[in-house]
Amino acid sequence: MPASPAGASGPLVDEVTTAAYTVPTDAPEADGTLAWDSTTLVVVHVRSGTTTGLGYTYGAPVTAHVVDDQLSAVVVGRCALDVPAANEAMNRAVRNAGRPGLVAGALNEAMNRAVRNAGRPGLVAGALSAVDTALWDLKARLLELPLVRLLGAARPEVPVYGSGGFTTYDVRRQDHQLRGWVADQGIPRVKIKIAESWGTAESRDRRRIAQARHSIGEAAELYVDANGGYTRKQAIRLDSYLMEHQVTWFEEPVSSDDLTGLAQIRAATAVDVAAGEYGYTLPYFRQLLGAEAVDCVQADITRCGGLTVWLRVAALAQASGMEISGHCAPHLHAHAAAAVPNLRHLEWFHDHVRIENRLFHGTLDPTGGAVRPGTDGAPGHGLSLRDEEAEPYRVG
Ligand SMILES: [Mg+2]
Repeated sequence: MPASPAGASGPLVDEVTTAAYTVPTDAPEADGTLAWDSTTLVVVHVRSGTTTGLGYTYGAPVTAHVVDDQLSAVVVGRCALDVPAANEAMNRAVRNAGRPGLVAGALNEAMNRAVRNAGRPGLVAGALSAVDTALWDLKARLLELPLVRLLGAARPEVPVYGSGGFTTYDVRRQDHQLRGWVADQGIPRVKIKIAESWGTAESRDRRRIAQARHSIGEAAELYVDANGGYTRKQAIRLDSYLMEHQVTWFEEPVSSDDLTGLAQIRAATAVDVAAGEYGYTLPYFRQLLGAEAVDCVQADITRCGGLTVWLRVAALAQASGMEISGHCAPHLHAHAAAAVPNLRHLEWFHDHVRIENRLFHGTLDPTGGAVRPGTDGAPGHGLSLRDEEAEPYRVG
């Protein structure tokens, strides 16, 4: 077993347990390249003595089995304080399972599209990330510190942006959602989905952008996310329209696998280009930055390898003069986000916010456009599962 530092001693990880909860959406949801009617939260608990840490990822229920079958035995018996050692051991243990690659082993193109979030590649990375974040929470709780204090704060608060605006929404629903963030909650930045039906409904995309600008007024920032649904030239041609409506963030105009295309779009447009939510390994982010593909790096703590790797991605970005933005799962990012100097913001994603508020105690209030993790003094990330609320959604 790869060891903790020589002579180190400390509390050991005694047990790893998993559960999966599938929660229906509150309305049909779709972006440019995927539609869904439910979202699965995969929860990992790691226990040391009487102290328990909680981590999670969003993905297929089978992610829980990956933790049970591939990762649990790697982590149990290790020192609970040496999270990077556990992360590295998990990373090595899943070489063939693999990270990335469990889903990729059984695909054709139809399946390839269907498993976008499952993910392709990424099932194993999601499992590893959930265990890693649970271990960081466990360590902070063992030391009776808010996670942000354990990491060390770089900022007092974390700016958030409201994210939703699904392509399935009609004018009224989109308007209601956007006004809710900007006018009711005082969040001065919002994002909508575009590239409906793989970019084939561009005239509706344009109308929805104009409607969004109308809903939020002139002062708030407006972002768009194509989820890889456009072609390169289509994305470049849209730039003048985005400028006309003061859109300042263009996320995944083309697939995040197309680093050359992202770089071409970035060079040809005035809007900031962002990508990185499908980064499952640290080297991916080096390639993304090396390709000059983005103006802001996105990384998802529930996919990229957990908090351990998310902080390294932030450092890579900083070394390239870039900011980082946290992708989805907002409550799992908040403490890490407060610990990096080059943070732009955190995605306050409608679907995940709804699930996290329903299933967890200890969620944060984004009123005014920022969250302040750790200020209540609760140890760890402060989240705990509301067992009775969660049970009806349990699928594994
Ligand atoms: Mg996105």
